[in-house]
Amino acid sequence: MAKDKKLVQSGKCNGCGICVTVCPTNTKMSKAEDFDIDNAKLAIHVSNGVAAVDYGVCIACGICTKNCPVSSLAMVQI
Ligand code: SF4
Ligand code: SF4
Repeated sequence: MAKDKKLVQSGKCNGCGICVTVCPTNTKMSKAEDFDIDNAKLAIHVSNGVAAVDYGVCIACGICTKNCPVSSLAMVQI
């Protein structure tokens, strides 16, 4: 985990959901036998048309920032 970094997002998000699908933490969780898409605490998900980060789950790997088509996501030093 990149403890010195944090994922932040701007208001540019269009809710496309690409970040949700490329997130390795989400992928790992989805492989669990008891995975429930409706109740899973994903690292990032789309809610009300915009991406929402769960900082208790996100490992700050930064992969989603490289895949967002509108550059809405970025990593910052903390
Ligand atoms: S943050 Fe980027 S990749 Fe994620 S839903 Fe928004 S626009 Fe799509
Ligand atoms: S920084 Fe990594 S773990 Fe966090 S939401 Fe993005 S892809 Fe997932």
